[in-house]
Amino acid sequence: MATFKAWVIEKGAGGQSLTFRDFDETELMEGDVTVRVTHSGLNYKDGLALTGRSPVVRRFPMIPGIDFAGVVEASEDPAYKPGDAVVLTGWGVGETHLGAYAERARVKGGWLVPLPEGLTPAQAMAIGTAGYTAMLALMALEAHGLKPEAGPAIVTGASGGVGSVAVALLARAGWHVIASTGRASEADYLRGLGAAEILDRAELSIPGKPLAKERWAAGVDAVGSTTLANLLAQTQADGAIAACGLAQGMDLPSSVAPFILRGVALLGINSVTTPQPKRREAWSRLARELDLAKLAAMTTTVGFAEVGRLGEAILAGEVRGRTVVTVA
Ligand code: NDP
Repeated sequence: MATFKAWVIEKGAGGQSLTFRDFDETELMEGDVTVRVTHSGLNYKDGLALTGRSPVVRRFPMIPGIDFAGVVEASEDPAYKPGDAVVLTGWGVGETHLGAYAERARVKGGWLVPLPEGLTPAQAMAIGTAGYTAMLALMALEAHGLKPEAGPAIVTGASGGVGSVAVALLARAGWHVIASTGRASEADYLRGLGAAEILDRAELSIPGKPLAKERWAAGVDAVGSTTLANLLAQTQADGAIAACGLAQGMDLPSSVAPFILRGVALLGINSVTTPQPKRREAWSRLARELDLAKLAAMTTTVGFAEVGRLGEAILAGEVRGRTVVTVA
């Protein structure tokens, strides 16, 4: 019987439990490509899954971990052959399909993208779901017709994973970036990534007016709730906010005022089921446009055995930038 090491979430009478154990390869779920996982990442959703704080896991037992980089071991998909380096984000992996915190994963070939040229597997996971989502947000703002000449761009949750990559990408694209953070101690870190201004997140996290002074043309919001409502209220005419997160909350206590009086747009970002062409475009742009020195500056690498403590850490806001888990 072939087994591999995995983090496994089980559900019993006492609730959810997380163990690091041997997993039987025959219990892997349906898929046409088997991958030897070499690296994974840590995302906010992984924190929710690992701790059980929110019901993101919808199958038990579950191997958590929503993204991985690895090497194809076996493939029935003609697009992939053994030895190919691949990357996976989304598609319910780590939620409904056995996930990334494991030495093996079996997935649909259509979920994978080839490792982008110019990136190592570790760098791809330093970007991970969070960084890939930041690129989707930038692409959405650009598709809306916004350019750096329009005015500043705000990034909320700036010290987090999505936020750190968004700051670096927007600054590289020429935007005047306002980084909103609750961690004043990370101001130098954020300036190093390219932020021109630092804004205390407390200014945005309490209820404000439905329309307020126009402060930015664009934004990437990882926070949601009152923060997103304030972002919209302070967006200049014909600007847009790309909304991807809910670190403050799932609600949106806003009004239609920014939309009907200023023509502000709210652009939704969903990284999970993005179709392949857009997925590949996002990854190839990340490989070209993300400064690898900045990526290194925002990345912490941890061993596979440490996964068990990471869930609480990310939900407590103790994690800066991105975390790579070395699996192999
Ligand atoms: P991180 O935990 O790395 O970043 C979140 C950041 O939000 C924190 O670092 C903190 O930044 C800020 N924050 C945390 N709690 C609060 C709060 N109560 N009020 C205001 N700000 C807060 O997570 P990720 O970057 O991985 O993900 C960010 C969000 O984006 C999550 O909600 C995640 O679920 C979502 N997401 C959505 C995706 C999609 O497809 N739509 C894909 C990927 C992520 P600081 O300390 O700087 O203030």
